[in-house]
Amino acid sequence: MRIVLLGAPGSGKGTQAKLMVDRYGIPQISTGDLLRAAVEAETPLGRQAKAAMDAGQLVSDELVLAMIRERLAQPDTHGGFILDGFPRNLAQAEALDGLLHQLGKPLELALHIHVDHEVLMERMTGRRTCVSCGRVYNVYTSPPKIDGQCDVCGGNLHHRADDNEETIGNRLRVYELQTTPVIDYYADQGKLRTVEGVGEIGDIFQAVSRVVDSVKEQQAAAAEAEPSAVTLEDLEKKVATFRQAWEEQPALPVEGQPAGEQAEAAPAPAKKKKAAAKKKAAAKKKPAAKKKKAIAKKKAAKKKAAKKKKAAAKKKPAAKKKKAAAKKKPAARKKKVGAKKKAPGKKKKPVGKKKPAAKRKKVAGKKKRTAARKKRR
Ligand code: AMP
Repeated sequence: MRIVLLGAPGSGKGTQAKLMVDRYGIPQISTGDLLRAAVEAETPLGRQAKAAMDAGQLVSDELVLAMIRERLAQPDTHGGFILDGFPRNLAQAEALDGLLHQLGKPLELALHIHVDHEVLMERMTGRRTCVSCGRVYNVYTSPPKIDGQCDVCGGNLHHRADDNEETIGNRLRVYELQTTPVIDYYADQGKLRTVEGVGEIGDIFQAVSRVVDSVKEQQAAAAEAEPSAVTLEDLEKKVATFRQAWEEQPALPVEGQPAGEQAEAAPAPAKKKKAAAKKKAAAKKKPAAKKKKAIAKKKAAKKKAAKKKKAAAKKKPAAKKKKAAAKKKPAARKKKVGAKKKAPGKKKKPVGKKKPAAKRKKVAGKKKRTAARKKRR
């Protein structure tokens, strides 16, 4: 979820942002924290920002926008973010809209934490921050157990340089003049929600969570009702993928057509088709003599195989052959064969005993010769 957290200095938006990070798993981006880190590290940006910060004025839009652009380009923001302390004026709000529009990820919620002016003054002058873990205390409303020491990690508590009365006065004036128009800007866009920032931190957070959750639900419902727009490019890609898949799939079997023919009729994938065409062409090219040779070769091979079988059969002793035959015949078949034997009718010559053509010719010749001899006698 992409959220902007609005509120005057001291409204507690930093504290709420940290709780939101834990609950929603999105990063907090605080321009105040980033600027303070730059000042401490004495980077060129920090050196330029320091004077404005010390005076309680806004740092130039140019610097802050460059910083935000760089931060939003980091991958941890892809699932959403909480902007804390930015935008601070209308120019920044418009620039943020432009940037998010470019990224195709518009802002989803502007959450305003409202606190009265007097309460803010008390909070800010009494504010102390742990330098080790960042926990925030207030010497008036939520003091640490030991003065100047963090309850959680024992770190030193720090009074921010810009938390003195003069600077605080300036910061609140700047807020009234420059940041309150940003609240109206988001109200006009229909993205503004307001939560009262007074009371227990946990109670305020419950109110914050209710708002975030309800906006999330609304967006989920809207997304379900309105499917995302499909571009022409998307459609063309889908058609191309479908066509490729269609061309590569084997055809369904045609009813009443023999399996062999079906295989021929089936539209083979492009590669297979090409291979088949090549084979056909090669077959056409074979001269008749070659074809004959190939057929003769096949016949010879068949004869050889038959001879081998015969020889093997001869080797088997009669008893063994019988046993093997009995084993092969299942009981039902054996019965059938028996029945056939009993049935009267023509005696058929067993197929295996058929004489080969050459032998038959020899026998016929012998018969002719004996007949001639008889005649002569
Ligand atoms: P904060 O911690 O948000 O109160 O910010 C501390 C100081 O940092 C402010 O008083 C400004 O001088 C500077 N600052 C933070 N955010 C911005 C911003 N968005 N635009 C300009 N100056 C900023």
